[in-house]
Amino acid sequence: MEKNLDVLVSAEDIQKRIATLARQIQQDFSGRQLVVVGVLKGAFIFMADLVRHIKMPLACDFLRVSSYEKDQSTGVVRMDFDMTQPIAGKDVLLIEDIVDSGRTLSYLLKHLETKKPASLKVCSLLYKETGAQIKNRVDYIGFDIPNRYVVGYGLDSEGLYRSLPYVGAFKGS
Ligand code: 5GP
Repeated sequence: MEKNLDVLVSAEDIQKRIATLARQIQQDFSGRQLVVVGVLKGAFIFMADLVRHIKMPLACDFLRVSSYEKDQSTGVVRMDFDMTQPIAGKDVLLIEDIVDSGRTLSYLLKHLETKKPASLKVCSLLYKETGAQIKNRVDYIGFDIPNRYVVGYGLDSEGLYRSLPYVGAFKGS
């Protein structure tokens, strides 16, 4: 346990919630073939755990966007690299680590919709209570969390803390 962090979501709660989310996703996409698209780097651990619980044929792809510098949003979303497979006519599930202002998600939805998927759903491990008007676009939410800067379970602070098995917030933040 890191002394400077408050645990917001325990490792156990994350794993339980992932099993529930995976069951819902499996039911919703029953009989279809899914392309699961992870947003790097933050979603890599969540996606790895989630897809191992979804018992149906699926393909995985990744893209990478950035908008944060030194734990602060620059307000501008930049595509660092895009997916490698076409998604036209496919059922796509976008996997995010966290939705904060919603800027990244809006950008990604616009971007992916230009590729003409048959359907496009969104699953985010965390949804921050910032008042962003985008909740209705997130089909699966792991946990609603307070408006604090969080790390762990894929999320970083200046490149560190991603490997923690829980989600924590810096004490006093
Ligand atoms: P948004 O565009 O919704 O404001 O922010 C989404 C992206 O910002 C996330 O994918 C994540 O990379 C980063 N982000 C937002 N809030 C946090 C946070 O509390 N902790 C960390 N580590 N990253 C965050």
